[in-house]
Amino acid sequence: MNNINEIQRFSFDNTNVRGERVLLTDAYQNIISRKSYPKSLEKLLGEFVAAIALLRDIVKIDGVLSIQCKGEGQLKTLMAECDEQQNLRAIAQWDEAQAFPEQASLKELLANGYLVITIEPRQGNRYQGIVEIVGDSLAQCLEQYFFQSEQLPSRVWLAADGTQAAGLFLQRLPAEQAKDGDEDAWERFVHLATTVKDEELLTLDTTELLHRLYHEEELRMYDSKTMQFGCSCSRQRTFDAIASMGAEEIRQIISEEGSIKAECQFCAEVYQFNKEDLDSALGDQAQTH
Ligand SMILES: [Zn+2]
Repeated sequence: MNNINEIQRFSFDNTNVRGERVLLTDAYQNIISRKSYPKSLEKLLGEFVAAIALLRDIVKIDGVLSIQCKGEGQLKTLMAECDEQQNLRAIAQWDEAQAFPEQASLKELLANGYLVITIEPRQGNRYQGIVEIVGDSLAQCLEQYFFQSEQLPSRVWLAADGTQAAGLFLQRLPAEQAKDGDEDAWERFVHLATTVKDEELLTLDTTELLHRLYHEEELRMYDSKTMQFGCSCSRQRTFDAIASMGAEEIRQIISEEGSIKAECQFCAEVYQFNKEDLDSALGDQAQTH
C-alpha cells in the first residue's frame, strides 16, 4: 500500500448524518518506531492516533486536541495529540518489568483508569472532559464522550495493525438540521458501517471504502486533508531547557554520566549532548556569576 495519511469528511444528501474517515500509514509508523513498544501496544497507539485525528476534524477549533488515558495497571499512560496543521504525535508508558498482554481490554490494561480529552484553543480557555472507560474499546469510550458532550448519537470504528491505523465516524446531527424525508437513514448507515471488517478499514482508501458501503446512497465527499507526524520539540529547545538548569548542575551530570540525554515526553525523540555541545551553556552561565 502507498503511503496515505489523510482524513476526509463526508455527508449524505437529504439526511442529517455526517461522517469522517481517517487512514494513516507512515505517519503512524513514525510514531510507533520511536520506542520499542510491545506489539499490542502499537495497535492501541494506532487506535488512539486515529481517534485524535477524527476528534481534531470534528471539534473545529484553532488549537491542540489531545486524548490521554491514565491508570494503575500495566499501561500507565498513553497520550495522542493533534494540532490544527494535522501534526500528530503520541507516546505511551507502561510497566516494562512485566510482559505486556497480547489481548486485553483498555479497562484491564489501565485498572481504575480513565480518559481525559483536552481541547486547548490558541485563544481562550482550555477545556478538559473526563471520560470513564466503558465497554471493551476506545471506540465505545468515544461514543460515550460524544453523547455526553454534544448529546449527539455517534458511532466510532477504530483499527490498527502496526502498519496502518484507521478510523470511521458517523454522527446524527440535531433534528432541526435534518432535511426532509429519510427517517431510517441513521440506522441504515450505521448498520452498513458495522459490516466493515478491520482489514477493509485498514487497507481500502476512503473513496473505495465508502463506495463499497454506500454506493446506493447520495454520498457527498469533501476535500481530504493530509496528516503527518509532527512534534514541536527540537534540539535547540532541548538545549535551552538543559542550559536553564545552570552550569553547576550540568557540570555534575557530565562528570557523572559523560553526557546529558533528554527524551521528549511527547514523541520519545532522544537528544544527547556531550561536554563540547554544552560548552556554550557552561560559558554563558559562568559569565553571569
Ligand atoms: Zn518531541
